[in-house]
Amino acid sequence: MSFENLGLAEPLLKAVSEAGYATPTPIQAQAIPAVLNGGDLLAGAQTGTGKTAGFTLPLLHMLAATAKPASGGRRPIRALILTPTRELAAQVEECVRLYGKYLPIRSMVMFGGVGMNPQIEALKRGVDILVATPGRLLDHHQQGTLDLSHVEYFVLDEADRMLDMGFIHDIRRVLAILPPRKQSLLFSATFSDEIKALAERLLDKPQVIEV
Ligand code: AMP
Repeated sequence: MSFENLGLAEPLLKAVSEAGYATPTPIQAQAIPAVLNGGDLLAGAQTGTGKTAGFTLPLLHMLAATAKPASGGRRPIRALILTPTRELAAQVEECVRLYGKYLPIRSMVMFGGVGMNPQIEALKRGVDILVATPGRLLDHHQQGTLDLSHVEYFVLDEADRMLDMGFIHDIRRVLAILPPRKQSLLFSATFSDEIKALAERLLDKPQVIEV
């Protein structure tokens, strides 16, 4: 199995090769084709398995394949990745930048504890992929500085950690402001009843992957 076999675009293959990745990890070998297929995904994967590339690579591929020509108008946020912590949000966005460096895709990381205004300015400049923690995302939405009505792809990363941290209400509020029609991916290291209930609510006939 190679990254070439997975159907990813050339600019992604170049970035992956420069990152020093020779072969896809098991979660990548399964998740990348599943996501490119367009269906929802429920993935059981721990940190360290390469799960981040497992969802960011196919998202970048699909966003680039259907990129809308820049036409003066504001670029809508097309993909939202929700993470439990600032550190993880920053790491995931770094991966998006690294793998997407040869694509005309813009990403942004958003979390609390820092000023709102620079984030508002960055949003105005246009963002394709937003990586965020739930609290600050909801703050922006409440203030009317964030439009999520064009989100086509939604990822809930480390969902079990989010629930452990007490984010279930925030997650429900985020789900309520996302468009009903979207491709959703849920990543979790464990599958408690609570995670299963969340998956039931969020995902439509998901492909299930466990590594
Ligand atoms: P993650 O589980 O997404 O946090 O990734 C764990 C680490 O594995 C990160 O440092 C990645 O850069 C690295 N990594 C991801 N995919 C591969 C791959 N296919 N080959 C080698 N390293 C990888």
